[in-house]
Amino acid sequence: MHVSDSLIGLVGGTPLLRLRGVLGGGHRDGGAPLVAAKVEYFNPGGSVKDRIAVRMVEAAERAGDLREGGAIVEATTGNTGIGLAIVARERGYRCLLVCPDTISADGLGTLRAYGAEVVVCPAAVPPGDPASCRSVSDRLVRQTSGAWRPDQYSNPHNPLSHYETTGPEIWAQTDGRVTHFVAGIGTGGTVTGAGGFLKEVSGGCVRVIGAEPRGPARSGGTGRSCLVEGVGEDARPAAFDPGVCDEVIAVGDGDAFAATRRLAREEGLLVGGSGGLAVVAARAVAAGAGPEDVIVVLLPDGGRGYLSTIFDDAWMAAYGFPATPPGSAGSAGSP
Ligand code: PMP
Repeated sequence: MHVSDSLIGLVGGTPLLRLRGVLGGGHRDGGAPLVAAKVEYFNPGGSVKDRIAVRMVEAAERAGDLREGGAIVEATTGNTGIGLAIVARERGYRCLLVCPDTISADGLGTLRAYGAEVVVCPAAVPPGDPASCRSVSDRLVRQTSGAWRPDQYSNPHNPLSHYETTGPEIWAQTDGRVTHFVAGIGTGGTVTGAGGFLKEVSGGCVRVIGAEPRGPARSGGTGRSCLVEGVGEDARPAAFDPGVCDEVIAVGDGDAFAATRRLAREEGLLVGGSGGLAVVAARAVAAGAGPEDVIVVLLPDGGRGYLSTIFDDAWMAAYGFPATPPGSAGSAGSP
């Protein structure tokens, strides 16, 4: 029988799916590279972050930082929190998550549904303010017995989880034929770990391309925060090794969201905005690639958490983005 005893045992091993329509390159059949999406919503918690949650917790257990009856404390809004909550439940730890008050009701409900204890803090205060997410999580770590904080931004087991799982999976799934790896940069763990592995195993032949929001960090050049969730940080986190990237492609919010909507309509892939962002970068890479090339682009999470934003026409219109993505079926002037 194929029955898993552990949900944690089902993390990773996500499939690769060939992309077609969203690349807008159907007319190049025969001459176009293969572009394959690594679809991370197949993980039990619905995102790539399950991988780092498992690895960071297991490393903390080995190091003696997390013991029976202990508590995991992390400031996070979404995917990492879900991954940590799942691992905490299976291993019997408390999971305390600190979130900014900008989190959606659905996001908050999801974390609580998994059994996490969530503390909501004002987003509009500086990090040094006693009410900030950072200060509150510091305090929780001090005051909670057996508390341990993973800190995904600086934890070396974040990139290591991708070095040991995501990268080797892509190498095996493409029979070592992958030539390009494209991933969005948030903590930088994915691109550093998976990209680093692929470079090493290929003797430096695989090109690694990072994708990030356009403009100054988080402001997108518009004075407002970058709207694509999960990518774009003010500072370069310790989990990110910029030396791994051969190229970093900046993508505008509008282009990322148009691609995200097209992924759902044209490929049947309901994913988050950072997946759309990575696909825009992959499209640019594909435009300069040959028929022998194999481009793998990582889609970090599913799209259910974005139904009231990216997939909502009124929300898109409020931010000045067209609701019907240019080039999709039904719109005039497809490129
Ligand atoms: N997209 C989403 C939705 C994410 O949650 C994350 C993780 N912050 C990323 C992209 C970026 O991945 P990484 O942190 O490994 O750079």
